[in-house]
Amino acid sequence: MVEGPVVVSRKGEARVLRGHPWIFRTDVVRAQAITPGAVVKVEGPRGRHLGFAFYSARSEIRLRMIDRGETLSESFLRDRVAAAVRWRESVAEGAAAYRLVHGEGDRLPSLIVDRYGDHLVVQTLSQGTEARKDELVRILVELLRPAGILERNDPRVRALEGLDQRVGLLYGEVPERIEVKEADVTFEADLWRGQKTGLFLDQRENHLMARAYARGRVLDGFSYQGGFALHAARVAGEVLAVDTSAEAVAQIVRNAERNGLANVAARDANLFDLLRELHDRGERFDTVILDPPAFAKSKDAVEKAVRGYKEINLRALKLLEPGGCLITCSCSYHVHEADFEEILAAAAADAPATVTVVEKRGQARDHPVVLGVPETYYLKCFVLRKVA
Ligand code: SAH
Repeated sequence: MVEGPVVVSRKGEARVLRGHPWIFRTDVVRAQAITPGAVVKVEGPRGRHLGFAFYSARSEIRLRMIDRGETLSESFLRDRVAAAVRWRESVAEGAAAYRLVHGEGDRLPSLIVDRYGDHLVVQTLSQGTEARKDELVRILVELLRPAGILERNDPRVRALEGLDQRVGLLYGEVPERIEVKEADVTFEADLWRGQKTGLFLDQRENHLMARAYARGRVLDGFSYQGGFALHAARVAGEVLAVDTSAEAVAQIVRNAERNGLANVAARDANLFDLLRELHDRGERFDTVILDPPAFAKSKDAVEKAVRGYKEINLRALKLLEPGGCLITCSCSYHVHEADFEEILAAAAADAPATVTVVEKRGQARDHPVVLGVPETYYLKCFVLRKVA
């Protein structure tokens, strides 16, 4: 049932008309007796119909637009999940683990659905999608017939919506560990406790891309469970994978064994320190991969993040043999692509190195970026070649 109308300010109206799906608390002029999580009709200050949105009673993002039309179909949730699933048949063809529903990118704001073989992982990150969890489970079961559906509702953003943090079964069964294949590499994913929903699915295409450049001696910094390292090991001489998490390192070792890859060494170390040590020892690499966690989680953290990105990229370029590639990523939304490119240019200037840009990439295509909604473009991945 649709509630409202909720009336937004001129500024809010302009934002909706520009195609942005988020309206902040300060741009809501009137919202009377609305149920938290309800679908509401949205109107401008002079009564202009703007569309429909999920209403959040607690969060700074008060409205998340779901439709700009005159009417909203009763079956919108089902129709959109079905459309999202269909699009993955093109962009994730043949993949075992990938993102089925990516929030705003699938016109289902604050809803994430990931597929790991026969199992699904769901995140309902606002009151709007939380309120529709049961309906969503019915839809997913009907469309995909999964063996189990897990909710990984432990991201901290849920607290901003007044929602609790929880991990639990919504349907069927989900084992402790699941094996999934990315091309010819098998990974073991822990959907219950792993980072994100188990694996970094947003890097799926970049893992495969890295195989085109990895050769000789490879350093994979910020390795997690070896997303890049194991693919690189299929094509390169030897791989050193590094992560501060001892658990991740143990998983890399298990994954390497499972794939019969004897050329992977994994170390539990802080990459900032290790890059310095490797340099002091005069070690060199033919390929370096850097995929750090978001150094800038908020706007205030950008300055420090820029220093961090500059330092690791500078040190990586120094370790790199001429002719070798640096595959370098940033998943901080607040450090935009142009900023990241500037940081990389500054690192190259200081190295000093002459560097060409081989590829500029982003998150995998099953994590759609919405044009005009910069918040949906967070992952940047540059392939650089140190020419000299
Ligand atoms: N490249 C991985 C994902 C990396 S996520 C993949 O494609 O699957 C970032 C990883 O960096 C996390 O596993 C985290 O434990 C690790 N990390 C964070 N700070 C680090 C540091 N200072 N040194 C090394 N690893 C770090």
